[in-house]
Amino acid sequence: MKALPQDIVIVGGGTAYWMSACYLARAIELSQTNVKAPAPQITLLESADISTVGVGEGSTPYLRYFFDYLGVTEDAWMQHCNATYKMGISFEKWTSAGDSYFHPFFSALDMPTADMYFSAVNKRRHGYAEDVNPSHYFTAAHMVNEGISPQAVSSSANLDYAYHFDAGLLGDFLKHYAKQKGVCHKIGTVQDIAANGQNIDHIVLHDGEVLKAELFVDCSGFRGLLGKQALARTFTSYADTLFNDAAVAIPSVAVAQPTKALQTRSIALKHGWQWHIPLTNRT
Ligand SMILES: Cc1cc2nc3c(=O)[nH]c(=O)nc-3n(C[C@H](O)[C@H](O)[C@H](O)COP(=O)(O)OP(=O)(O)OC[C@H]3O[C@@H](n4cnc5c(N)ncnc54)[C@H](O)[C@@H]3O)c2cc1C
Repeated sequence: MKALPQDIVIVGGGTAYWMSACYLARAIELSQTNVKAPAPQITLLESADISTVGVGEGSTPYLRYFFDYLGVTEDAWMQHCNATYKMGISFEKWTSAGDSYFHPFFSALDMPTADMYFSAVNKRRHGYAEDVNPSHYFTAAHMVNEGISPQAVSSSANLDYAYHFDAGLLGDFLKHYAKQKGVCHKIGTVQDIAANGQNIDHIVLHDGEVLKAELFVDCSGFRGLLGKQALARTFTSYADTLFNDAAVAIPSVAVAQPTKALQTRSIALKHGWQWHIPLTNRT
């Protein structure tokens, strides 16, 4: 087996950063069981001057597997992050006729009806008048309509679902987890990067400090400090085709009725679109 890198530096401060830190710390912990070698050191570098995106509060089902891997139960993290369950996304008024549809998360429970659904979609593409509304085929749609939480369903049902959560509180939770696993948290802003071909040798901080590592993880968001800038990886921008490249997030009191809190809502507007993400304490 290839030896683990002994020094890892993660550059960032947002969601990707804390998730990478926790994931790597856990992977090292699991790989070190019965091993006497010193554990690799993870250093997290966070800038005090550059802010995070700070939104991104609706997940896909993969977040569940992430917490399973960390060994963290829903009881522990969901309460801390004011989280709710998410069974899918409703897209409202997106056609000129003002139609809406619900995009469900697919589960093993849906195997029989999913086959029927995809067969209907294929026939519809060939001009047949088939019912292709996913809400008529998938369990998640039924649960949203009836307000049934995935936890109210037997665990043997093998249901897939996701979450809504407060991104700031999730960062706090993951920070605590990562620190408990022994990661070193450092405040500093990257000023310069010394790359040798496709390898990064070291980074230099604003105060002149030099950080060397065997593995650097770039979690600097859109800036792509290490990959995009230092290693000149290509980024294809579509900015010239965007009608709107700005978003305004306005937290309100919790407006979703309990029966509607199991979905993200994405509502088309005349000049953009609006989203509703229901948490336990706010929308
Ligand atoms: C309106 C909107 C809605 C969204 N909704 C969702 C959603 O529902 N679900 C979802 O999964 N995603 C969503 N996203 C996307 C999601 O928010 C982002 O993908 C995610 O937050 C990006 O996190 P990040 O950690 O990669 O980057 P960022 O949050 O941008 O963090 C980058 C970090 O890099 C640090 N950094 C930058 N330069 C330096 C430097 N020189 N030195 C040191 N540190 C530096 C910054 O300080 C910052 O902490 C949404 C995005 C937007 C804009």
